[in-house]
Amino acid sequence: MKVKKCPYCSSTNLREEEKMIVCEKCGFHTLPLYTNLSEDYENNPITPFDRIMKAQPILLKVLKVLDKNTNQWWFPLIMNLYPKGIVYPIGDENNWKWAFSSYVVIPLDLREQYPIPDRPGEYYEYQLDLQNTAYCNTYLEAIDKFKK
Ligand SMILES: [Zn+2]
Repeated sequence: MKVKKCPYCSSTNLREEEKMIVCEKCGFHTLPLYTNLSEDYENNPITPFDRIMKAQPILLKVLKVLDKNTNQWWFPLIMNLYPKGIVYPIGDENNWKWAFSSYVVIPLDLREQYPIPDRPGEYYEYQLDLQNTAYCNTYLEAIDKFKK
């Protein structure tokens, strides 16, 4: 069955990218894989989606909503475009916002403090500039900062 509107905000402004569907209004997204969530996925993950959900930040777990027409779950999309920046939801269930943090170059003499896991002798060139994170009221606002 085709998804026609976002189960979180009811917008019909949906963008389809490969198999992913993103709500352009609120930033929630879904994939065909996001089905069959077990009741106790946290302690006893069984399905592939159980394992995906278990690995998500708490905020995404509490915000997830089920589209009853398709039986697919939706939750906010974290958009990480290294080394440009990252758009992500932040806060708790009752009070959350969208945030944008950009990456900044790590000075050469400090890089040894940022080793890449499982890649001996390799170091990150960029890190997130969390001190200058922009907090936005809407997904669109955060995406706007991302594009600049
Ligand atoms: Zn939406």
